[in-house]
Amino acid sequence: MKSILQVRIEPHQFRKRDIIGGDPALDFVNTVTGRDQSPRDWLDSYPRLLEWAAFVHLLPKRVLRTLAKKAHKEPAAAAIALARAKVLREALFELVTRIISRRAPSKSALALLREHWITGIKAHELRFGDGRVLVGLRDDALDFDLIASTVAYRMVHQVLPLPMDRLRICQGPNCSWVFIDSSKAGRRRWCDMTVCGNAAKSRRFHARSRQRRSAQRP
Ligand SMILES: [Zn+2]
Repeated sequence: MKSILQVRIEPHQFRKRDIIGGDPALDFVNTVTGRDQSPRDWLDSYPRLLEWAAFVHLLPKRVLRTLAKKAHKEPAAAAIALARAKVLREALFELVTRIISRRAPSKSALALLREHWITGIKAHELRFGDGRVLVGLRDDALDFDLIASTVAYRMVHQVLPLPMDRLRICQGPNCSWVFIDSSKAGRRRWCDMTVCGNAAKSRRFHARSRQRRSAQRP
């Protein structure tokens, strides 16, 4: 689904109800909401991207604090990194929705994911501790692109290995959020039943009562 709709950038305070993807990599895609009707992009600045990353616990607090200080000193470089992160976000939306509709993702989306994923791998190191080899973030991994590369790293390591028939896009109006359906029955259709589920139900109710009214007309 390629959006030709105008995307409005708006400030947003992230709340618990915004986090429904099942993994931060999918929640990152959902920082644009309403892609099907009136798309709004909630990442209005690099500091907002940091707020989001803190909210979903994407990276350790000390890393986010350092990035915040750095962004304050180098706002232009931070803005470029935000723009790069958004290009990745759109590629991930395309990738996810194509998988949902059983189509192959575009080569360019896969190439971009790979590029950020490799950067994400390079931001990690292997340590030995407690009798095992552990994967951890390098102490010097403090690049502005670290958020995007961590999202890509998670997408490849945490999301893509999941059963892809459980990947969903919300059926609610003006939403288009993507998520992993981890319900037992596997019949989750909405990001949140109380938001999009009820909106769809009341739409169906109004459609039915309209039908009834027109049927009753002489
Ligand atoms: Zn929804």
